Amino acid sequence: MLRDSNSLKISAGNITHVADMLVSNQCKGKILYVSDFVVDNLFGDVVKEQLKDLDSVAEELVDNNTISYAMAIAENVIISEIKCIVGLGGGKVLDVCKYAAYIAKVPLLSIPTTMANDGIASPIAVLKGKDNKPKSLGCAVPSMLLLDTDLILSSPVSLIKAGIGDTISNYTALIDWDFACSRYMDDMNGYAYLMSKTSLDIMMKTQYNSICPDFINVLANSLVLSGIAMNFAGSSRPVSGSEHLFSHALDYYGTVRNLHGIQVALGTIAVLKIIGLDYSNVAEYLSKFDVCINPRKLEIDQSTFIHCLQNATKMRKNRYTHLNEADLSTQRLEKIYHELEREL
Ligand SMILES: [Zn+2]
Repeated sequence: MLRDSNSLKISAGNITHVADMLVSNQCKGKILYVSDFVVDNLFGDVVKEQLKDLDSVAEELVDNNTISYAMAIAENVIISEIKCIVGLGGGKVLDVCKYAAYIAKVPLLSIPTTMANDGIASPIAVLKGKDNKPKSLGCAVPSMLLLDTDLILSSPVSLIKAGIGDTISNYTALIDWDFACSRYMDDMNGYAYLMSKTSLDIMMKTQYNSICPDFINVLANSLVLSGIAMNFAGSSRPVSGSEHLFSHALDYYGTVRNLHGIQVALGTIAVLKIIGLDYSNVAEYLSKFDVCINPRKLEIDQSTFIHCLQNATKMRKNRYTHLNEADLSTQRLEKIYHELEREL
């Protein structure tokens, strides 16, 4: 388990240590506090009270996650001579903060209130372009990350389950990375591989059988390690393989919206079946935490499931995976869909 440091804290009750973290990291000067309306109502006062004691505080309540909006915040930070951004919220708020901090070249103290995916410590911000489609933009890992496990435990359990799904997807992501290297279609980065594998292992080997406070700590460590793996690799390769391509295809072609972490977990089992590897330990793990990935229950019908698997490689052409060579005939995928419907 990771130890708390002055730039990374993962434990219960951390929300009261925001000011300590800024001071111990020599962050001085004007602060921009960024949140959204709902989260600000729930936890904003606890954070803002601490910030006011340090310096003057500007406030921004995020209502969209477009690239132009994040750029506008960055410009505001530059012209107002703001020295630090403090972001409090879920993925959308923190992605806006990550990108604004990166453009304005100021440190970001990130306080996630949900753990639905491994973006909390990644160097990637997902923001919408003018075409309303999400783009993954390279930025920096937050300079300071403060995770209050009590806060996460109070978030909707569906988001926690999605976070479990996103870490479990490292299973196929690593198999695909190995495979791509064996075909000379990618390069291996041993440090990043090890980080991603460790992120997966601490989840798969956890002693906890339910979503309890100690398990939240393990999940937080795992998601942070996945983020660091991406940072080491300089891409999402260590944590994103064919299962993520399938999820991107669902986002692109599908009509039903499921959480990213749930879609990639379904993709993980589906791909393991397609390439003929044992998936029982992954399926058992997900059912232990009551993470439902039955495609029928997720309202992913058979034709969408098949179409998304057959077209997944188009989502990211330079990401070579098992799907580039697997038998994706309709007849075979129909059989797999029925098996998943029965087994999950
Ligand atoms: Zn993911």
